[in-house]
Amino acid sequence: MIGRQITVRGRVQGVGFRPFVWRLARDAGLRGHILNDGAGVTIAAWGSQAALDKFLHNMTESPPPLAAIEAVTTKRLSAVAPSGRFRIAQSDSGEISTEITPDAAICSDCLTEIHDPNDRRYRYPFTNCTHCGPRLSIVKRIPYDRAQTSMRDFEMCDDCQREYDDPSDRRFHAQPNACPICGPKVWLENEEGPIDCTDPLTETAQQLMQGQIIAIKGVGGFHLACDATDAKLVQKLRERKHRKAKPFAIMAKDVDQIRVYCHLSDAEANLLATPASPIVLLKMRQDAPLSSIAPGLDRIGVMLPHAPLHHLLMARVDGPLVMTSGNRSHTPQVTNNDQARSTLADIADAWLMHDRDIVNRLDDSLMRLDHDGPSVLRRGRGLAPAPIHLREGFAGVAQTLAMGAELKSTFCLLKNGQAIPSQHIGDLTTAEIYADFRAKIALFRKLYGMKPEVIAVDMHPDYLSSRWGRHLAEDIGARIVRVQHHHAHMVSCLAEHQINPDDALTVGLVLDGTGLGSDGTIWGGEILQGDYRGFERKAHFAPVALPGGEQAVREPWRNLVAHLIAAFGDDWQQQITGTPISQMLARKPTALISQMIAQRLNAPLASSAGRLFDAVAAALGVAFDQQHYEGQAAMELEAMIGYRAISGGYSAAVSDQGIISWQPLWSDLITDLQAGVEPAMIAARFHIGLAEVLADTVTRVASEAHTNRIVLSGGVMQNRFLHRHLAEKLRARDLTVLRHANLPANDGGISLGQACIAALRD
Ligand code: ZN
Ligand code: ZN
Ligand code: FE
Repeated sequence: MIGRQITVRGRVQGVGFRPFVWRLARDAGLRGHILNDGAGVTIAAWGSQAALDKFLHNMTESPPPLAAIEAVTTKRLSAVAPSGRFRIAQSDSGEISTEITPDAAICSDCLTEIHDPNDRRYRYPFTNCTHCGPRLSIVKRIPYDRAQTSMRDFEMCDDCQREYDDPSDRRFHAQPNACPICGPKVWLENEEGPIDCTDPLTETAQQLMQGQIIAIKGVGGFHLACDATDAKLVQKLRERKHRKAKPFAIMAKDVDQIRVYCHLSDAEANLLATPASPIVLLKMRQDAPLSSIAPGLDRIGVMLPHAPLHHLLMARVDGPLVMTSGNRSHTPQVTNNDQARSTLADIADAWLMHDRDIVNRLDDSLMRLDHDGPSVLRRGRGLAPAPIHLREGFAGVAQTLAMGAELKSTFCLLKNGQAIPSQHIGDLTTAEIYADFRAKIALFRKLYGMKPEVIAVDMHPDYLSSRWGRHLAEDIGARIVRVQHHHAHMVSCLAEHQINPDDALTVGLVLDGTGLGSDGTIWGGEILQGDYRGFERKAHFAPVALPGGEQAVREPWRNLVAHLIAAFGDDWQQQITGTPISQMLARKPTALISQMIAQRLNAPLASSAGRLFDAVAAALGVAFDQQHYEGQAAMELEAMIGYRAISGGYSAAVSDQGIISWQPLWSDLITDLQAGVEPAMIAARFHIGLAEVLADTVTRVASEAHTNRIVLSGGVMQNRFLHRHLAEKLRARDLTVLRHANLPANDGGISLGQACIAALRD
């Protein structure tokens, strides 16, 4: 008999890894033990060479569903084999690993149980096991133990306790283990109080089918649900929620139901069915009766049931439900029962409640399958707080907290070579969300035992994240590092791809709305050259005025006027005669706008890519007056393109200094408008032209820099059409294109880049 010490690194705690190893070891007749250690698990095993080999093979080939093995190391043990059978030992007293796993959708075993009339968990909405169930959403402190979660108030019954204590059971150490006898309960209530009924889920389903809007408490927060196929009802929900145009997500029972409304590839179906169970943006069928769900767009967000509660509900309704976040506009998704009663009083007709507290608000994650693979557009439930592993260069750096940007706020912790980006938190300019942001930072610091020595903030001094960062830095004596916005975008992508800091020279094409540049002006259409440690601005969009500042972001027509003035000067009105925009702009105070621009009154210059999209959208009458949500004009413009053969993109003029002027584009576009060319074709030519000009400029910069690594980042890169054409053109020139996959390309991904830059800066 020989002995081996085996260490396993990765996500192997809190996911049923020890009982899995215990079973394998016993099956193989091994002796020894397994225990959790500071960074994973350690196994001491004795047996024949053949038994040990087979054991190792099985362990790495078929780990439990939520486990992720990153490294296995083995070494000889000279000690003689202990007597007795293989056992699970107490953890070492040293530093316990603090990895917290994301919440996971119900597993197939638990699903079978809730539909089995003979099972004691038949129809029980809080069924879970070590392979599934809530995690981050219920944890208050570490170590991850029932007493440190919101399951603390539920004392396990004898049956549940037996499962919990039995290593051969699927529920061995399943912290949220529960059953109808001892666990959380669900009920339906309305303004008058709880509704007396035998089965709250059946009652909820009936009310939904009768046209009620119901607030449903889920895993990471409340949703508002109603029949998605009833256009009038969806409109009613829009009015009550004061949400004019922003798309709603829907939940469908299964993939067959989804196929009635959307085109669904096998890869998309797989994405929907992952343990993260995200909302996936799917191409809508032309005849799908869901027009009011996502006005002006060709894709809708769809998710499958993820919690047992959703499975039980969806089995009782006839069609898909709207499943949108339960909040008033501009406030965070509601997480607690009292808050839900008051905040959603004018929106919901009834509330499907339960008594398992939500500790961590987690918005639904949003993903899409792109040509290059899946993209995360919003990282929340099911994905956060999975760590991003960084290259060796980050092993010894100072503990760093990065504060993110402002509108799609996240923060990021960097410690021991790992980065932990927070879940999506939202728009900090809303008081409640800003408060939540500060509370989450405090909670994460506790969960991960963080004492940051460095705090990274955006260069923009007025971002609320920058302000709170300065406050924290003073409070705890940390060093502040200011990071340029687009540099952070670029580095975020480098870090995601584990590019080595010592060999990271890159050309970054970063396109977004706005971010403060190192020269004090507003940037947003940038070609940078650099690495983690620094960058040079090699090319950029010619600056164009933002008449009215923030107002220009909300009202695309203002950008149209600004771009026309930039292209044609005082002569702009003559240039557009005979086009539809000439009449549309006649109703707007354009004289005032040109005055503001001429006198530089509240009309800062910006090299923004986002505002160019807004201007082109407005020129086609898309979101002309205003946009109701960030990115609306650009998203609708992209959706217009459809599938068609496209000839000839618009051009641009690039100066020797790398300034990209869109004057030629506007000339071509106006000519097309005057000739009555279809808007769908104009939208296509705009995208194609943009991709060509940018690919050419990036190629030139890359060849001068002697690198072939290109990063594509910034919110505009979520434009599928543009991204695809850019990537194809760049790859055709033998350039290596890095794109975001696990973090959003928009400002939601920026905190990772900030953390990496600040951690390496002396
Ligand atoms: Zn399960
Ligand atoms: Zn029980
Ligand atoms: Fe940005």
